[in-house]
Amino acid sequence: MKYDVVIIGSGSVGSFAGYYASRQGLKTCLIDNFLPPHSNGSYHGDTRIFRIAYGEGEKYIPLLQRAFELWGEFEQTSGQKIFERCGVLNIGDPASAFMRNVAQSSKDFALDTMLLSPQKISQLYGINVPDHFTGILERGTGFVYSDKSVETAIRLAVGLGADVLISCIRRIEKQGGAYYIYTDSSQILADKILLSAGSFASEILSVCAFDLPQIPVKPKRKMLNWFYSSSYQLRDAMPAFIMEFNGDHFYGFPDFGSGVKIGLNVFGQDITTRDELLGFGDIESDKRAIAEHIRAFMPSLGELCTGAVCTYAMTPDEGFIIDFIDSCLLYLGGLSHGFKFAPALGELGISALQRGELPQEICRHFSLGRFS
Ligand SMILES: Cc1cc2nc3c(=O)[nH]c(=O)nc-3n(C[C@H](O)[C@H](O)[C@H](O)COP(=O)(O)OP(=O)(O)OC[C@H]3O[C@@H](n4cnc5c(N)ncnc54)[C@H](O)[C@@H]3O)c2cc1C
Repeated sequence: MKYDVVIIGSGSVGSFAGYYASRQGLKTCLIDNFLPPHSNGSYHGDTRIFRIAYGEGEKYIPLLQRAFELWGEFEQTSGQKIFERCGVLNIGDPASAFMRNVAQSSKDFALDTMLLSPQKISQLYGINVPDHFTGILERGTGFVYSDKSVETAIRLAVGLGADVLISCIRRIEKQGGAYYIYTDSSQILADKILLSAGSFASEILSVCAFDLPQIPVKPKRKMLNWFYSSSYQLRDAMPAFIMEFNGDHFYGFPDFGSGVKIGLNVFGQDITTRDELLGFGDIESDKRAIAEHIRAFMPSLGELCTGAVCTYAMTPDEGFIIDFIDSCLLYLGGLSHGFKFAPALGELGISALQRGELPQEICRHFSLGRFS
């Protein structure tokens, strides 16, 4: 079978790329090891925060603004509740780089934010923070339902004619400018490839029978905790939040029925392969690392109810890699904070493959060349 575009990895970005490619009438195939719902990507665990006032830096904001438009459009087209616009509360020392970036991007991009004092944060949300901290609430943003988004994007892509192949890729060869992809069950010919296989994209790079550059992406094991609580409820206008303290970012979601979900941005374990990924509870700190710090800030949090494990795809500078690694093979990865961008990156990937080039601003910030 011959395709205009083959998307390898139909997760966060790949599912949206498949949707946009098929919407443009491209003959599209999405290949993955697993059919969602599954817990082998970086997007499971129900939800991901969406924010535009961005502590990670202003270079991300044009993509975030485009993603915001596309999330809204996607929600309308799909008829699904995808986005909870409960707001995002950033909390931390106003002198930290993260909080300064949040404040600066709010100003530079005229974002809908408001400053909150520690007293106000405590009064409104029951979160107690040190007196020298500040809060910046970004209204209109919030969180998206991640598993539901991926499943919906794939379903819409299939409805528009895309094929989905769940099979293990054994070898990719290049002949006459096209790519031959050999899987356990089929042989596929692709004019163009989008490689969006997340934390374990190296599995695909290692079966390409042609020269490729080194890509410095490593998986990092992360865990999530859910806590029982009758406070911090979505229905009571509790926002999603990111609190910077203790050298980490504690990010969380209001409870909408399954508990208050909280994760840690920095803490985790570096791994190399999928086989090294231990399950939740297999590491002693899984049930302790969040709880032992967060209760001082969120006194109404109850007992730990459950947890999950997921991976970040880490680059040395924690920035994305968006680059052509072969003439018609676009790599889109290293996304340790990338779910919120998924529709914008999917759209960008398909447009770049069609044009044969990336926008200058993308090359400037996200090229592979920055590591050499
Ligand atoms: C615990 C946790 C919390 C997070 N919180 C947030 C958040 O609040 N906000 C946010 O914006 N981001 C967040 N992120 C980051 C975000 O989830 C990721 O950046 C994003 O999901 C990465 O998307 P991706 O498309 O690169 O990879 P994925 O979504 O993981 O997709 C990769 C796909 O490739 C497939 N695949 C892998 N190997 C192969 C192979 N060999 N062959 C074929 N297919 C393969 C996988 O099965 C998967 O479907 C979080 C991540 C974690 C782990």
